Amino acid sequence: MEESKSSSNFIKNIVEEDMKSGKYKKIITRFPPEPNGYLHIGHAKSIVLNFGLADEFGGRTNLRFDDTNPSKEDTEYVESIKEDVKWLGYDWDELHFASSYFDEMYKRALLLIKKGKAFVCDLTPDEIREYRGTLTKPGKESPYRNRTVEENLELFERMKNGEFKDGEKVLRAKIDVTSPNINMRDPIIYRIAHAPHHNTGDKWCIYPMYDFAHPLEDAIEGVTHSICTLEFEDHRPLYDWVVRECEMENVPKQIEFARLNITNMVMSKRKLKKLVDENFVDGWDDPRMPTIAGLRRRGFTPESVCKFCKAIGVAKASSVVDSQMLDYFLRDDLETKAPRTMAVLRPLKVVITNYPEGQCDTFEIENNPDDPTAGTRKVPFSKEIYIEQEDFMENPPKKYYRLFPGNEVRLKGAYFIKCEEVIKDEEGNIKELHCSYDPASKGGNSPDGRKVRGTLHWVNASTAIPAEIRLYEPLILDEKEEEGSDSFLDNVNPNSLEILNGFLEPDMKNAKSGQKFQFFRHGYFNVDPRFFQEGKLVFNRIVSLKSSFKIKK
Ligand code: ATP
Ligand code: MG
Repeated sequence: MEESKSSSNFIKNIVEEDMKSGKYKKIITRFPPEPNGYLHIGHAKSIVLNFGLADEFGGRTNLRFDDTNPSKEDTEYVESIKEDVKWLGYDWDELHFASSYFDEMYKRALLLIKKGKAFVCDLTPDEIREYRGTLTKPGKESPYRNRTVEENLELFERMKNGEFKDGEKVLRAKIDVTSPNINMRDPIIYRIAHAPHHNTGDKWCIYPMYDFAHPLEDAIEGVTHSICTLEFEDHRPLYDWVVRECEMENVPKQIEFARLNITNMVMSKRKLKKLVDENFVDGWDDPRMPTIAGLRRRGFTPESVCKFCKAIGVAKASSVVDSQMLDYFLRDDLETKAPRTMAVLRPLKVVITNYPEGQCDTFEIENNPDDPTAGTRKVPFSKEIYIEQEDFMENPPKKYYRLFPGNEVRLKGAYFIKCEEVIKDEEGNIKELHCSYDPASKGGNSPDGRKVRGTLHWVNASTAIPAEIRLYEPLILDEKEEEGSDSFLDNVNPNSLEILNGFLEPDMKNAKSGQKFQFFRHGYFNVDPRFFQEGKLVFNRIVSLKSSFKIKK
């Protein structure tokens, strides 16, 4: 992918300094997702940042699956994550699984025990929590803290051999229970979990904790700058402690930045999984989901997502980005890429009473009025056409310039027509309109200088391609909630999906999976890949055409 230089940010400055001072010769970053769900647009920010930095400084980036927690992880997620990173346009240098370092991590834990820097603790999880103290109350030492090295080695070995039940024992780092930083109060570094692992099967029944595993993973791979989100800031002293006390050769540097939040979007795999599992959406790639897979199926382009991620910048303070900013980059990208076509989403039949039976005109209409090189397409016209229901009103208010009884409008690129008669069914519903046309207005041009104010899009009835068209509203109406609570489920928008049966120009029978179009007046649409595979033509509205949102260039 074309790499526009990212604007300056504090992380870039740190890397620049480190290169200048010779602290690192080559920068190595990593993107370390836990394979417990699909990636979302927040991850895209991290991907763009990590890969972008390495690209800019001639370094490299690893993709590493942080799979140290056996119970929640799945190979389906591993595959989707690889696909999503590639789709964004990035290629990792090395692919790793944290679980392939389990042997090395175990050895480093033994080293800590031998140095008297780790001990096996028999306190229950509740007791450990209580002993740990709070922000205002210092911790208490575990009664098992002063076990001998020999005893610790033997117990840890027995933990590994499966002699204890889950939670019965843990291995803890021996640091400082009175530290003002709670993370340093003898944190747990290994726990027992009798659970098969997607990569290592049942080789292990003890698993390293994140705070122990992550710095080791970084150091093993020679990562120089380990970029993570702000909630790990208080864990940094522990990160540095692990690298130092485990005597790792490479010393990575942890740098924190604020995670991306976007209005009306939940940004957590756990919550997104809830939406999937409880059938609020039709899978991880539902076009309403803020997952990369969902955005792709909806019709977002990787270029628009990456440009957005670069534009929002990297900061140390949390903030919420307006989702309209993402839409802005989307429209900006699609404007030049998506050919124009006319589609009627809510059809109303119009019979042109004075148009000769059996006659068919063909109009040549430009694919992109802003880009002459985009060419033209042939659009047929005959006696029966469809227009949009909302483009007709029997009793219009003032300043309604579209069709109403007695009024004349232009059919885009075709003719002027005038509404002569409204045909209704027995219940009084409008069935169709009878209109007359002016043959002299061919091509949609005024024959005698008379003006019409409305221009309507239309589709010729006999050659129309029927298609399902899906319109979307935000999935989440508002997202204000306590971390960890599930109250966001109360904010799920019950009207986030509207399904319409519309008509398209005949050319659209050739539309391909994932192809994008601008439907005149309606916005940008994408051929849904999943339905396409099933042989069904469904268009997802990616984004509407207009917005008052402006971005400073
Ligand atoms: P989630 O809560 O969605 O599971 P996570 O932080 O636990 O997110 P990981 O799989 O550990 O997800 O994330 C991989 C990388 O992506 C991490 O380095 C993490 O900091 C980063 N990341 C995750 N969410 C965001 C976000 N909203 N904005 C920026 N970076 C993010
Ligand atoms: Mg997580």
